[in-house]
Amino acid sequence: MANETLIEVKNLKKIYKSRKAGNVVALNDVSFALPDKGMVFFLGKSGCGKSTLLNVLGGLDSFDGGEIIVGGRSIKNFTSKESDTYRNEYIGFVFQENNLLDGYTVAQNIGFALDIKKQSGYDDKVNSVLESVDLKDFADRKPNSLSGGQKQRVAIARALVKEPEIILADEPTGALDSETGEEVFNLLKEISTQKLIIVVSHDRLSAQKFGDRIIELKDGKIILDSSPLNKSVESSAQSLKLNAVKSGLPAKRVFSLGAGFLVAKPIRFAFCALICLIAFCCLGVSDAFSCYNKSDALFQTMKLYSTPYISYVKEKRQLYSNAAILGANYDDYVRCKSEVNSSRLDIIYSYYYSVNCENVDFSEEVDVSVKQEFGFKGFAEIDENLARDYGYTLYGKYPTASDEAVITKYLFNAYKKYGYKEYRGNGRKSINSYDDLIGQEICIDYNTRFKVSGILDTKFDEEYYGDYVYNNSDENVGSNGDINGKMFVLIEYGMHNVLYLAPGYYENEIVAKGEQESDGQDIRVMCCPFKGDASLDNIRFGEKHFAVDDEDLYPHGEWYDVYEILNDATRVVDGIDGNMSFVKILFFWISIGTIILSALFVLYYSSGVVSEKKKDLGVLRALGASRADVIKIFLAENGIFVVSLVLLATIFSAVGVVIVNANLAATLGVSAVLVSYTIRQFAILAAIAVGAVVVGIIIPLIKLLCAKPVDLIAGRK
Ligand code: ADP
Ligand code: MG
Repeated sequence: MANETLIEVKNLKKIYKSRKAGNVVALNDVSFALPDKGMVFFLGKSGCGKSTLLNVLGGLDSFDGGEIIVGGRSIKNFTSKESDTYRNEYIGFVFQENNLLDGYTVAQNIGFALDIKKQSGYDDKVNSVLESVDLKDFADRKPNSLSGGQKQRVAIARALVKEPEIILADEPTGALDSETGEEVFNLLKEISTQKLIIVVSHDRLSAQKFGDRIIELKDGKIILDSSPLNKSVESSAQSLKLNAVKSGLPAKRVFSLGAGFLVAKPIRFAFCALICLIAFCCLGVSDAFSCYNKSDALFQTMKLYSTPYISYVKEKRQLYSNAAILGANYDDYVRCKSEVNSSRLDIIYSYYYSVNCENVDFSEEVDVSVKQEFGFKGFAEIDENLARDYGYTLYGKYPTASDEAVITKYLFNAYKKYGYKEYRGNGRKSINSYDDLIGQEICIDYNTRFKVSGILDTKFDEEYYGDYVYNNSDENVGSNGDINGKMFVLIEYGMHNVLYLAPGYYENEIVAKGEQESDGQDIRVMCCPFKGDASLDNIRFGEKHFAVDDEDLYPHGEWYDVYEILNDATRVVDGIDGNMSFVKILFFWISIGTIILSALFVLYYSSGVVSEKKKDLGVLRALGASRADVIKIFLAENGIFVVSLVLLATIFSAVGVVIVNANLAATLGVSAVLVSYTIRQFAILAAIAVGAVVVGIIIPLIKLLCAKPVDLIAGRK
């Protein structure tokens, strides 16, 4: 054979430095040259340095002296990238233990070698190489369903598929019986007509049977070479080119490897994932509750109740003292209008403060409190813009003359239930439809009468309050909490119990006739539409927002004007605010606890994964995967873990917040949205998951990246 010289080794030296055992000289002044074809055996007893030589030749380990020249280049001078390329382009490794990746099929195991090389035509190559090792029908089997000989043939196929220049086999039959051993050697022998096969073995008989040449080692030295090659490698026509191919695992494979690592220990994974998920959900929920704040609770509860307006009532406040509700004047109105973030602010005048409607034909048994519930709490001027902006519907006509009025459906229902009676007369009438009431006269007092021109549906929640109001029933009060308290604020400060008069009424009938309130505080309530889409910042204004006992706002002893929002939602939230401040503190400490637990669980999980996968990573590195590939695999694995954990925890804790909310509200005897799940909880979950994973894997990963592939495979680091 007129072979070219492919490898030249000159005075190679390898010393293992170890503190315990002292220095071990594993290779001592080893020199030889090898051709580009044929089957060369390195023979020697255990411990003589055979594996060391092979690992050093294959770029899996470093050496301490001498030179290895492959295709005219000294491998000592390789950059780490060139070294990766060298392993993956030029070298095919066959280990004593086949070192197949258990979690992957035969085809995938072989495919890794191609993936790292970024080769195309994947399936064809895998199939044809499987055919060449006589394992055509085994592509989809997992390694642990194969016999030892079959596994070793897969390992050879994995080395072959990259079409390397050199195949290095470290006791490839060491774990096989002699018959299957022969099979494997026959296969390698066949390949050796095209490639250089270096086999390390202590099996002299096989070496003599299959070897083209036998080199014997003893104590790290060559003691015999059956047919030494004299031609120097410098004269070789071949020269090593290492930059031709860019190696690196494709993203798809990185993800499948990452996902595979994730579930490598399914029970441990399931257990950890479940514990992490539970801890994260607890954290999400408890953090949401520790963030309870009255403003948000109020805003959300108003949305829940879908009251279509906001009422502002002027109060005088002092720190820690109860408010005194006042009427407002026109200056207050102008100030509020400029500060309320709303296109309109409507005035309900207080001239008819709590005047009973004398025309409702109450029977004798009806309680006086019911009668008062149908008294006008004020009047407002209405036109079609008002109805449109609040989403109200009018039946009939808007008032145009000063003696015309629109009443609300809320009041109409009282007429419908009790009937209509003339004021100071004997006429009685049952009311069944809107038309029965339109055109009738209603009296506030003897001098103040209006003709009903229309009926306005102000969206009073009849389903919720109807039974209580119209039937005076308190049967379903229990689960709804303080239903009469909520009713009270709606009727006192809402828009349902208001007499709607013609535009200009206040100016023409009150001011012109000098009938203002004596204190000039004619405005009882101011209202603006609330559609639930505004944020709370848009509905409170300046520092004069509602109900906060804040020392900075109300220093001791001084009185401040406050425009308080008053409705059924504020009534409820005010009522439970005291309890919620305890809940908030409780959940704050639960959050702290769950933060620590969650972080520890994730840490425990992520740090375990690295050590478990050392060997597989070593094998991948030996196949030519770069450090970047290893990092990518870990990023993928932990990325999948973190992303699914955070997403699932977000979904579950958002649901959890709703459930805890409902239960807590029920315990407090109200229906209210106390807290909501926000981006904050998501951010905390994500930060803890990412942080714990980074802390968990950083040190093991750095160790892993620094380790030599050979040490990883042997499980030494
Ligand atoms: P062989 O493969 O011929 O059995 P090795 O190459 O594995 O021999 O080992 C050669 C010598 O180097 C032995 O004495 C062995 O104990 C020592 N050795 C091998 N690997 C290491 C290591 N990682 N650290 C320290 N000593 C080692
Ligand atoms: Mg060995």
